[in-house]
Amino acid sequence: MEIFKTIAAMQNFLQKAKKTSVKIGFVPTMGALHDGHLALVKKAKSENSIVVVSIFVNPIQFNNKEDLLKYPRTLEKDAALLDAVGCDIIFAPDEKEMYPEPDNTVYEFGKLATVMEAKFRPGHFNGVAVVVKRLFDIVQADNAYFGEKDYQQLQIIKSLVKQKNIPVNIIPCPIVREIDGLAMSSRNMRLTFEERKIAPFIYQTLFQAKEKAKLLTPTDLTNWVLQSINNHKLLTVEYFEIADATTLSPVTDWEDCELAIGCIAVFLGNVRLIDNIVLKQN
Ligand code: AMP
Repeated sequence: MEIFKTIAAMQNFLQKAKKTSVKIGFVPTMGALHDGHLALVKKAKSENSIVVVSIFVNPIQFNNKEDLLKYPRTLEKDAALLDAVGCDIIFAPDEKEMYPEPDNTVYEFGKLATVMEAKFRPGHFNGVAVVVKRLFDIVQADNAYFGEKDYQQLQIIKSLVKQKNIPVNIIPCPIVREIDGLAMSSRNMRLTFEERKIAPFIYQTLFQAKEKAKLLTPTDLTNWVLQSINNHKLLTVEYFEIADATTLSPVTDWEDCELAIGCIAVFLGNVRLIDNIVLKQN
């Protein structure tokens, strides 16, 4: 496995590899890797000849300074994990390498960038789009792998690729969970022992909501989820929305969409956790 910190060194290596018409799979991450990330890498490995994983904590996608400062950085451990699953290249640039000049590109994602995460994290998805576009230009991968854990991000990336005609296939990957149902996240390591015990309640509630979706209207189901989670003394829902899985428009009648997804953001102490579940599938 090679670790590159500069664009030039990595592109030099990739250019040589591309002479033998290899397929390149790409997994962008912010590091502090867990089995959720590694599942993406394993899938990429099974479908490509070379797998590139980027590790870059992208400052311009953080709308909360404290969240950026506290974001875990564990490059050595990450490298060992990636080596063990057959990653070929780690691209770990510093901020100056990624942004020699500030990149003030403004992207337009319409409704996708007005709901849910976008409502509570202004500028977040623009920052994601800026870094992912730059990374796509640098790596020139055939396939890029993104987790459904960040469901709205996945839709934004699909839109970015379409708008900019970027020649890369976007491959969605299912959410990887802990045994107790908690969606794996780099932020989970910031939970206290007590908070970690409570955290699976979020997914347990979503799971029950899927059953209740057969009986309740979207509005009643939304209220049930909000009440169940907010009743818990350490949990505070930031949003729960039932959305059309493609447009992310709010669903008010189950009949209006083919695939409905319930997306949630919850504060547990200082830690903000997100999760989602398919609630209705035709
Ligand atoms: P991050 O490092 O949090 O930016 O995540 C990098 C990629 O890993 C994104 O495409 C995430 O959606 C994906 N990812 C993070 N956690 C999970 C998980 N629990 N299951 C599946 N994919 C995940």
